[in-house]
Amino acid sequence: MVDLLEIFVFLFFLYLLSLCLLRIKFYKSRLQNKIYSNCCPVCSKPLDRHKRKRYVKEINTLTLNIFGFKRFYCINCKWIGLLAKYTKKIK
Ligand SMILES: [Zn+2]
Repeated sequence: MVDLLEIFVFLFFLYLLSLCLLRIKFYKSRLQNKIYSNCCPVCSKPLDRHKRKRYVKEINTLTLNIFGFKRFYCINCKWIGLLAKYTKKIK
């Protein structure tokens, strides 16, 4: 019989590991150029903040709020998506 605590610890580490991997993936998900501080990843036009949905809050809680996800909307190309709070510069 496998100890329940062992399974729990294993799952917990798996969860932390996946969070770390996601953190690397989403570390610089917001784009910034010379004119706008937050750009669309598709067309580089400025993004509009969408009203925060409940699931976004839940995602943030589940990921220990290390990403600070917010929902954005692009007027130009109708892109909608979640972006973490960190920014990277684009030309
Ligand atoms: Zn766009």
